[in-house]
Amino acid sequence: MIVPACTQTPAQSRRVIVSASTVFDGKGHVLHNTRIVIQGSKIVAIDPKAGPVDYDLRGLTVMPGWIDAHVHITWIFGKDGKNGGAGWTTNEAAGQYANNARVTLLAGFTTVQSVGSVADVPLRDAINRGELVGPRILTSVQPLSGQGDKTGTPDEIRAYVRSQKNAGADLIKIFAAASPTRSAPTMSQAQLDAACDEAKKLGLRTLVHAYGPAVKMATLAGCSEIEHGVGASDDDLKLIASKGIYLDPQAGLVWENYLLNKEKFVGTPFYPSTLEGFASMEKLIPIYHDFIKQALKIPGLKIVFGTDALAGSHGRNAEEFIDRVRDCGIDPMAAMISAQSLGAESLGMADQIGSIAPGMQADLIALDGDPLKDITAVRRVVFVMKGGVIYKNEPRTIGSRKTDD
Ligand SMILES: [Zn+2]
Repeated sequence: MIVPACTQTPAQSRRVIVSASTVFDGKGHVLHNTRIVIQGSKIVAIDPKAGPVDYDLRGLTVMPGWIDAHVHITWIFGKDGKNGGAGWTTNEAAGQYANNARVTLLAGFTTVQSVGSVADVPLRDAINRGELVGPRILTSVQPLSGQGDKTGTPDEIRAYVRSQKNAGADLIKIFAAASPTRSAPTMSQAQLDAACDEAKKLGLRTLVHAYGPAVKMATLAGCSEIEHGVGASDDDLKLIASKGIYLDPQAGLVWENYLLNKEKFVGTPFYPSTLEGFASMEKLIPIYHDFIKQALKIPGLKIVFGTDALAGSHGRNAEEFIDRVRDCGIDPMAAMISAQSLGAESLGMADQIGSIAPGMQADLIALDGDPLKDITAVRRVVFVMKGGVIYKNEPRTIGSRKTDD
């Protein structure tokens, strides 16, 4: 298990005290009328008697910053306004990457896993140095794209995995199938075994983009997490659960975003060549909903939160919570946990992020509203602290604010 260092070091190391009437601890517990004491980058105490209060967040719902397990933080629209993909190295692109990072953090996402592009590396490092505003980023650098025999021999695949580690990868991303409609595996079992085994030897996790039969193959290969997963059978899902592998399905944001921005995606590589072609995407949305409903019935299956945020959806990651709760019947607290303690566990960082307790990173967000009663409250993030540093504090937007004591 790799535990990436959290390098953010805020200037101030005096105690900062946050008062709250409702606190979700990230693990499913709700605390009332308490105070969170922060020193430097960490939470040092939960103490209702601590004072004086620096930030009064009573009337809001305070919780750990969210973790998005699947984004493409450097995927942008190009100069012509069309889908530009990821991995540009121009100054202009760098500005857009910085903006993607900033809006993601301000939307309440204090940690994201980007899967991935070489352009993620300088962005991640600049944020860690405090030069840019953004979430903590973990990146796969370049993915391993299954292309049948052309993917390489097992030895070549092992060398490729090592090269990503050398390029700064925090994890390895693997494509083992194309899409839900073309779900034939694009790698052999031996190729997948080699990729997952080599990553494990290097202490890196493996996230495998898989549909249909590739889901079971990736599971047998000992991957860490399955991305998407549509087409897996109940038996496949039970196997995932029995091996403690995480599942990261999507409930809609990625498709909604393509439809919302279809003029920008049309005719670009891998996307329909006509606007009419996007109608087939609309039909996929209920298939994804049904898959999540299927997965929810599997006892012990660990479902994490990943949005597949790309050009057009950076900063709107929380829409996926609404889709999951409204369209798939996920319990709102379970949806929060999937992006908090469970998400942190999936990254091997449960001892650092994803919950509110002494010793944890001070990653706190506050919502104007109660997501357990109205999941659209996830759109109203009015306070963001990452590693003890406040990036957003908009008490004036809290028109309906009331104090409970
Ligand atoms: Zn993706």
